[in-house]
This record gives sequence, C-alpha cells and structure tokens, in this order.
Amino acid sequence: MILLDGKVAAEAVKEKLKAQVAELTDKGHRPPKLAAILVGNNGASETYVASKVKNCAETGFESLLIRLDENVPESTLLQTIEQLNNDETVDGILVQLPLPKHISEQKVIATIHPEKDVDGFHPINAGKLVQGLPTFIPATPYGILLLLEHYHVQTKGKHAVIVGRSNIVGRPMSILLSSNIPMGNCTVTIAHSHTQNLTDICLQADILVAALGKPEFVTANMVKQGAIVIDVGITRVEDAIAKKGFRIKGDVAFNEVAPKTAAITPVPGGVGLMTIAGLLSNTLQAYLNNKKA
Ligand code: NDP
Repeated sequence: MILLDGKVAAEAVKEKLKAQVAELTDKGHRPPKLAAILVGNNGASETYVASKVKNCAETGFESLLIRLDENVPESTLLQTIEQLNNDETVDGILVQLPLPKHISEQKVIATIHPEKDVDGFHPINAGKLVQGLPTFIPATPYGILLLLEHYHVQTKGKHAVIVGRSNIVGRPMSILLSSNIPMGNCTVTIAHSHTQNLTDICLQADILVAALGKPEFVTANMVKQGAIVIDVGITRVEDAIAKKGFRIKGDVAFNEVAPKTAAITPVPGGVGLMTIAGLLSNTLQAYLNNKKA
C-alpha cells in the first residue's frame, strides 16, 4: 500500500510555485496577491484561512485577509468583493465558506469577478470546466489531480466512483476524472444520498473518492482489493483526550480500509494540504492572466 502523502506532494508543488514567483520578482514584477475574506469566527474556517495566508507567505505570494463580523450585512460583503474586483494589485479573491445564514452564497460567488475567482466556483468558470475550456479548477479537485500526478497514478480507463456531488468537490471531481486530460479518462459514477446499493457501487471502484462529510463512513467491506482511495472528508469529532477537544476524521475508516488498497490518502495530511496547493496554483495563473501584473 502506498500512502498518498499530501504533505510531500504539496511541498513539491509549492517549491515549483516558489521558484516561479522568485523568477518573476527577480525581474522586478510584483508577487501574486490573494485576498481572503473571512466572515464570523467559525473555528474550522479560521484554521483554513490562517493556513492559506501562511502558505502564501511561504511561497512568496502576498496575501490580504479581510475579516468581517458575523452579522455583517450581505450588501457590505458584496461591496467589499467589488472593491477587490477593481483592485489591480489583487489577482485572486476567495470568500471562505460556509457563510452565515443571512448571506446568499450564490450571490457572493457570482459577485467575484470570474478572472479572480481562484476557487473556481463562479458559474462561468464551472461552465468552462464542463466544456473542457481553460479555467480555474476548484481547489480541492485540482489538489487531488496534483496528488495523483505526483504519485504517477494511472487513471486512464479506470472506473472512478465519487461519493458526494457538491459543487465544490464531488461534481467538479466527476467532470475532471471523466475528461480527456492526463489525470482523467476514467469511467465515472457519481453517488449521493439517494444512491441505492452504494456498497455494491463502491466495490466496483478502481478509484474511490469519498467526499460526503460523514466520518469513517467508507468501511473495508465497501472497498475492492487494490483500489485507490481518496479521502476528502474533514470532520471535527469531539474527543475529550485530544488537546483541542476534537480530532479530525476523514470519510474513510483508514485503519481497516488501508490494507486492502493499492494507495490511500491519510486524514489529516492528505487532500487538505493539496487543496492549498491547488489554490496557490490558481492564484499564480490568475496573476499571469492579469496583463497589468
Ligand atoms: P456537502 O455537504 O456539500 O456534500 C456532501 C455530499 O455527500 C452531498 O452530495 C450528499 O448527497 C452526499 N452524501 C451525504 N450523505 C451521503 C450518504 N449517506 N451516502 C451517499 N452520499 C451522501 O459537502 P462538501 O462536498 O462540501 O464536503 C464533503 C466533505 O469534504 C466534508 O467533510 C468537508 O469538510 C470536506 N472538504 C474537505 C476539503 C479539503 O480540503 N480536504 C475541501 C472541501 C470539503 P446529496 O447531494 O444527496 O445531499
């Protein structure tokens, strides 16, 4: 069994990005800049955004963190996005999800200029992804492709089963793995909460992507011998013994599933780290696309 180590693969991607940025700044250009908006004080969101900012610094990117109060009016958030859209020194914009209930995620996503939408959630970018046009690939699926590439996983002709159909993970993952691209050309099945006989379907997977947000849902009896398992899930599970009072669990029961697999991602230390690598790659792309850089 090979451990698909997100730390190792993300470091490799980041080293490449760092070298590209250094080359640009050595020539007198400004570095790429990512603006992140965090609304409220959700613990997990705080951690994700802090990690994104830290990774920007490590890679030579500039970042700008804008914090807004939990009760901020939707209109203020939209205005803040518009200001960033018009700021020529900002290449990429991300609004950390989830947002408080009084704010429409759809409106927020649609307000980010598609050319700065480094999360790849804007309907225009999602549409381009479906049509195989150049676009920003949502960071988590992008990170998974980079991970598969790093470990030279052969995807062509394989049957991929994806559990979860969200716009940020499952759906774009299904499009990418079924596309005619180097880490694609799979035959794809996408499963969701209404899928019948899920165990039988998962057992057919050469590549199984678990992205449903249910800790340790995928058990050994659902996995074919020799499968490649990608665990996207991140759930905080209470644990009185843990220092922070919780532990991070994936969607796969790692200990029982790993021995059956050819390769598997750990949680933590797998897809989460690759997501940041995907985001930074998109931000550099946005910078390069931005003619005024
Ligand atoms: P969503 O809640 O948006 O989507 C979950 C999907 O799983 C839905 O399509 C849902 O089906 C499906 N689902 C739920 N229960 C079942 C079930 N019992 N059987 C089959 N399908 C089911 O979650 P996200 O896609 O946003 O995130 C999924 C997980 O990935 C979460 O743990 C999240 O924290 C994590 N995540 C990790 C990232 C990383 O960087 N590693 C980045 C983003 C997310 P239906 O559509 O029918 O409701």
